[in-house]
Amino acid sequence: MFRVFLLSAITLLSFPALSQRLITPLEYSGFTSLTTHKEMMNFLSYISTLKGVNISKNIIAVSPGGRDIPVLEFSLGEFGKDPDKLKVLLFAQQHGSEHSGKEAALLLIGELANGALNDALQVLDVAVIPMMNPDGNEVDRRRNGNNADLNRDHLILEQPENIGLQKYFYKYLFDVSMDVHEYYPYSEDWIALGFRKNSDVTVGCLTNINTPQKFRDYANEEYLPFVKDYLNLFKFSFAEYTPAGIPESEYMRYSTFDINDGRQGFGSLATFSFIQEGKNGEDSADNIERRAYSQMVGMIACLQFSAKNHEEIKELVKSERIKLAEGEPEFVSVQMEHTSDGSTLELPVISLKTDRDSVVSVKNFRPVVSSLFNVRKPFGYLIPVENKDLVEWTKKHHLETSVYEPNAKDIIESYYITGIDSIDFEGDRVINPSCKVELVKPTELKGNYLFVPTKQLAGNIIVQALEPKSMIGLATYKKYENLVTAGTMFPILRLVE
Ligand SMILES: [Zn+2]
Repeated sequence: MFRVFLLSAITLLSFPALSQRLITPLEYSGFTSLTTHKEMMNFLSYISTLKGVNISKNIIAVSPGGRDIPVLEFSLGEFGKDPDKLKVLLFAQQHGSEHSGKEAALLLIGELANGALNDALQVLDVAVIPMMNPDGNEVDRRRNGNNADLNRDHLILEQPENIGLQKYFYKYLFDVSMDVHEYYPYSEDWIALGFRKNSDVTVGCLTNINTPQKFRDYANEEYLPFVKDYLNLFKFSFAEYTPAGIPESEYMRYSTFDINDGRQGFGSLATFSFIQEGKNGEDSADNIERRAYSQMVGMIACLQFSAKNHEEIKELVKSERIKLAEGEPEFVSVQMEHTSDGSTLELPVISLKTDRDSVVSVKNFRPVVSSLFNVRKPFGYLIPVENKDLVEWTKKHHLETSVYEPNAKDIIESYYITGIDSIDFEGDRVINPSCKVELVKPTELKGNYLFVPTKQLAGNIIVQALEPKSMIGLATYKKYENLVTAGTMFPILRLVE
């Protein structure tokens, strides 16, 4: 039934008929059982032997449980080699209990392999990672085999899945990326209110204030309306992603500005980056047919938008990456907050009483991210080489570094931590140290240092990670909390010029 509908809608869009497409394990089961890692591996192995589109299968990482994490690459030429083509990376199921992203990615892979998206592939090279968290998938669990939340790990990069993803990203420097998830609309507080969110697909754009403003404007003005129309064409509903609890119990906002997730992590490298969240079922398999197809249509919308605007996006990404390489912007925000602009959010919901679509007006809505504290971007940072964890961290982020050779002319600042207060970070408390800046003579430095210049692609990430006052920096993680200790020098130094 769904297939018939999709076929007619797709024909309407002048896509080729999809009847030749290989069916996915989920479809084969009649939408009764979710795809296992083994079934996916078999399906992808078969897909990668098909002719027509150039398809290659690679393994980006191995999970803690020993399971391969494959990526499928699609190109009409040689993948990643044509500088005029836009490189798009779609990855799904960082959270193992969110199955529709994976099932949608497998459906999409079938369409790509079948040639149904060859028009888009004229100007795009597309990589799809359907299952970022196979250990979680196998036991229907959010976290990975190390009991870690992969989508909070993109800054510290402790988990093999993300270390592999980061390495893979740097291999091609993708222009566009999308991380696919699910949101859960069945919580008790919403049910008590008599409504729940009901959009098939939601999309979140970049929110971190240090990501390019042009990306954020372009995404809001062009991408979101495009995806909405595209989904509506297939009779799927859409809303912009607005997590947080029921209206007025707490403020509602667009997604976090933290840079530890897949969207903001790559967005901070001037990638045109999104998160897509489909609607979860009441359990993992509930309504999976609609959930998987709606997510797939959202992913196709991302590809079609990218293809339609490939020149403009390519240019935007290129110019923003040049700015980062030149050390722009001059100031980086390391403390932010969500603020109101006076607007009310008209949130589409379903009324549980009438089972009809409705709208809830949210007055306590904070769509704007404002800076609370900026730092001037230094020329670079000096990391003590004896701190193996930090040195390792620079490698996992593929940072350009060099051994620091002291020069008498260098101006070096160090922070003395005079005290540690705390600051509210989206309902949690994180450290807010007070610091005194002192000058250090290069010739008086003890020990060896690694120089990390800020004039590089990850320049903004480096500042947000390494400043002691950063509310989203390394020192807010348990592993690095010793970096900030009251009454001591912060061990990372700033080379100002
Ligand atoms: Zn998720």
